[in-house]
Amino acid sequence: MGIEPNLSLLWSPAGLLLIGLCVGSFINVVVRRLPLMLSRRWWADASGQLQHGNGLADGLETLQASSEALERRLGVAQELQGRLQALPALNLLHPRSHCPSCGHVLRWHENLPVLGWLRLGGRCSACGVAIALRYPLVELVTGLLFVGMGLRFGFEPIALLWGFWCAALLALALVDWDTTLLPDEMTLPLLWSGLVAAALGWTLPLADALWGAVWGYLGLWAVAALFERITHQDAMGGGDLKLLAGLGAWLGPAALLPLVFIASVLGAAVGLVMKARGALREGRFVPFGPFLALAGGVVAWWGAAPMLKGLGL
Ligand SMILES: [Zn+2]
Repeated sequence: MGIEPNLSLLWSPAGLLLIGLCVGSFINVVVRRLPLMLSRRWWADASGQLQHGNGLADGLETLQASSEALERRLGVAQELQGRLQALPALNLLHPRSHCPSCGHVLRWHENLPVLGWLRLGGRCSACGVAIALRYPLVELVTGLLFVGMGLRFGFEPIALLWGFWCAALLALALVDWDTTLLPDEMTLPLLWSGLVAAALGWTLPLADALWGAVWGYLGLWAVAALFERITHQDAMGGGDLKLLAGLGAWLGPAALLPLVFIASVLGAAVGLVMKARGALREGRFVPFGPFLALAGGVVAWWGAAPMLKGLGL
């Protein structure tokens, strides 16, 4: 008898914790870099539109009215393009993790989730600049979320799936909190992975996943449209609609009301506290995405049925 790899170690409590810590380390990279990568792409798109966009077709004839205006437009486009090309390459794998202050590339043991930070005492080993506590916290929380999913769904392979689901929500929440953006690059994979997981029989019946996604999107869209009609204020970004559609695909239509209810209460409470403390600058708003994500975790943990009962429905 040979030594067989014991795969079940992967979904043991220790295995889930370790995987979660590593995934949390990757979340830190995604949350820091993805908005930068997207911003570069948008500027590149803007440059291309300025150079090649058909102003006449867009009804922006004035931009091409004079050769002077056209020249100015091309000048801006070329400057943009030049600056973008001068930037060092950036993606999720390159450059390697380094100190933002002195550029010191982290050695493998400095890059270990949580432990690296603890060993370094929260400071860069080369220049001594403080490394934000947020990095090890995100790693620790992700590790605990993976273990939590083991407690919720049993220490089975399915716990890994839900662990990654929680990690995706945490990444979405942090990006939204930092930038008030919920990129399609994150919300759409959440949506279709929910449909695929249902189709494979891993989560809920496929029809529930489908209707959860549809009603998640349309329901929140209707609420937002009504709110805008009444108050003449922008209520929600399109990203919130896609996030709720994604949550609906994983949790089903019955989860939608508890989701929106919990997220609204949490969001309003945090918004009021921040306003009272003067932490909310004039004209700024608290993004809704982090609260939707948090509510998603809460509903996944307790299930939608008891919550609907709690709401008197
Ligand atoms: Zn440094």
